[in-house]
Amino acid sequence: MTQDELRRYLEFYQDLGVKTLVRRQAKHAAPAEPQPAAVAEAPALPALEPAGDTLLKILEDIGDCKRCRLHEGRNKLVFGTGNEQAKLVFVGEGPGADEDEQGLPFVGRAGQLLTQMIEGTARKEGIPLVRADVYICNVVKCRPPENRTPQPDEMEICGQFLYRQLQAIRPKAICALGSTATKAVLGTKEGVTRLRGKWQRWRDIPVMVTYHPSYLLRPYNQNAKKEAWEDLKMVLHYVYD
Ligand code: SF4
Repeated sequence: MTQDELRRYLEFYQDLGVKTLVRRQAKHAAPAEPQPAAVAEAPALPALEPAGDTLLKILEDIGDCKRCRLHEGRNKLVFGTGNEQAKLVFVGEGPGADEDEQGLPFVGRAGQLLTQMIEGTARKEGIPLVRADVYICNVVKCRPPENRTPQPDEMEICGQFLYRQLQAIRPKAICALGSTATKAVLGTKEGVTRLRGKWQRWRDIPVMVTYHPSYLLRPYNQNAKKEAWEDLKMVLHYVYD
């Protein structure tokens, strides 16, 4: 196991509230000192992304999650929605008021714009695609108070579930909407404006960064709207041609 993998394991267990891990003796090591009977053998560490992981299993693991402070103001946890075998996954920032109320991502004004972007672009480009064909989720699953940007520790804790979702679906491409999704998926501080329009990568999956629909709803961002449409066109042709 590399140092990076070990660090991710330890952070994962810390997020789950595990404070102490007992180191298991390696099989080929020299005979061990006799252990006191009271010390139980530690269970083998499950994989961060367990083999055969499914969205249902991830949802069960999240449960009534209280792993970060965002649970305090939550009405409904917003896991994600869409085709579980989608070739394309959209990742947003976090639920807003409408999403928190309905337990579904992108159902407010920004969500309606996202639907128009997906279906309108697909129609214009002659691609038979509706919103239900893709998968849509967020970096954090609970609504941040006053719709503030999720904080780094919240993104890191909840990000474990996002990575498992992406790994379980294994889409042909990911579209990161806005800077929070970009930070979480690519682990970069580079802004959307610099990264958009060019393919990036999460593990071996191509990632397109573009503007969050709520940013595009502001009247002075009409140029960004054109750019977002161009980004989406590129994504749809790559995934569905
Ligand atoms: S935001 Fe994620 S980690 Fe935090 S309480 Fe909600 S589901 Fe759990």
